[in-house]
Amino acid sequence: MKVVTVKDMQTGPGPEDWFTGTVWRDAAPVGASPDVAVNRVLFEPGARTHWHTHPEGQILYIITGTCRAAREGEPPVEVEAGGVVYFAPDEKHWHGATPETYMVHMAINIATTTDGGTDWLEPVTDEEYGSRLR
Ligand code: MN
Repeated sequence: MKVVTVKDMQTGPGPEDWFTGTVWRDAAPVGASPDVAVNRVLFEPGARTHWHTHPEGQILYIITGTCRAAREGEPPVEVEAGGVVYFAPDEKHWHGATPETYMVHMAINIATTTDGGTDWLEPVTDEEYGSRLR
């Protein structure tokens, strides 16, 4: 058994070159769990990631609020707390809060052959973020 207590979590604001708007992350130290990287992420209303990919895919477990997310070429969808979103390896996508409320998700990045890191791309425009929902 291995325990990572809250005092060992790496908490801080999300970097501006990864996110639009205000985001807070609690990251478990790299290697804290085998084969996955675990982060709790809070997005203020309107905040979202930039476009990005994960080399081994990602699972989002929505804890609070409603997640708005999209993959390239498709309009956004909304997923309420309790729902789960899965992104395949190298699937270009973004995720964040809705304009109306903040959102918290657990981000579980598969990390069997990598450190579970993310390849960050361009910001999600207001038009992409606010385009008609599917
Ligand atoms: Mn992602």
